[in-house]
Amino acid sequence: MTSDGATHVLAQAAGHEVRRTVRTLADGREIIYFDDTEAAPRAAVDARPHESRSTAGHVRHDVLTGDWVAIAGHRMNRTFLPPKDLCPLCPTGRGSAPSEIPDADYDVVVFENRFPSYAPVTEPVPVVADGFEARPAGGRTEVVCFTSDHDTSFSTLPTSRVRTVIDAWADRTAELGARGGVAHVYCFENRGQEIGVTLHHPHGQIYAYPYVPERTATMLARAREHHATTGRLLGADVLAAERADGSRVVATGSHWSAYVPFAARWPMELHLAPHRDVPDLAALTGEERDELASFYPELLRRLDRYHVDDRGDGIPMPYIAAWHQAPAKGGREVSRLFLQLVTILRAPGKLKYLAGSESGVGGWVNDAQPESIAARLRDLAG
Ligand SMILES: [Zn+2]
Repeated sequence: MTSDGATHVLAQAAGHEVRRTVRTLADGREIIYFDDTEAAPRAAVDARPHESRSTAGHVRHDVLTGDWVAIAGHRMNRTFLPPKDLCPLCPTGRGSAPSEIPDADYDVVVFENRFPSYAPVTEPVPVVADGFEARPAGGRTEVVCFTSDHDTSFSTLPTSRVRTVIDAWADRTAELGARGGVAHVYCFENRGQEIGVTLHHPHGQIYAYPYVPERTATMLARAREHHATTGRLLGADVLAAERADGSRVVATGSHWSAYVPFAARWPMELHLAPHRDVPDLAALTGEERDELASFYPELLRRLDRYHVDDRGDGIPMPYIAAWHQAPAKGGREVSRLFLQLVTILRAPGKLKYLAGSESGVGGWVNDAQPESIAARLRDLAG
């Protein structure tokens, strides 16, 4: 751990240096600057009144399915689509009130969520009747601001800035995953009001869960089963099969390939996987990170041309970008990193709702043919 205010340089390949500075906000939350430009030292003090820090709620076990559910009532009060002038993710000084970031500028910044679903400090766990189980919602939730520019998006960031975001994800994956009480680190981005974003400023989130979430646990069990039977990694076999078939491959680089999965369940679903067996973001090499920094935004730009309006202009695609990686404690030897990119926009103005079949019993129906999704995405290259 770095002491407050100290800056150190993350190990980097030549040509890309990131300085990491850890500081503390007025209510005690941690803020970490990842700077790739020759910026002033990040030394501004959070001048907001010292409020008491928000706590997380608790998690309840669903005995019918084995899932854990976080009960976080305080999140009902969180900031919802504020005007730009009151954006909490812009640097302080750009709007009319101090923001979450005390400095006048930043490159990439990560801080603990003010309205956490999971946090080191939790409310007392309620006493529950026999047959039920509740635990503290320990762990941590962080916000990742991709840029200080309010009016842009991840897809149009400079390559060097995307590389810094990747370095920040890798840093958080390693550090949070090493903490006691953290079972899984999940980096993701929700983009678009249709997906439910509550702030327009380009940002993602990191959840460090106190348990292994349901889908991660299911995928880990299947990967373990495959490995026990074949001695191979399931993720590697899937990637090899997709590349051999080719009909759903969208783009291939030196270190990464993107394909629409055989059993795609969303109106648009794209997986991005490294060619090498890599368990998590922290294990990516400098060369793999460099290629990802240009490869991934180019795919996102294709999404923004996937649907067009009456005038032929692209419609910004609402999406969820979900990094699947090895759980923090156990399963590394069989897990393989990949990014899952999905949308709920079926057609201009038409959303796919997770209705009776999907929400009720998890029975997925996809109106779109995976091979047609891939062909459309290939056509949008450039
Ligand atoms: Zn902003």
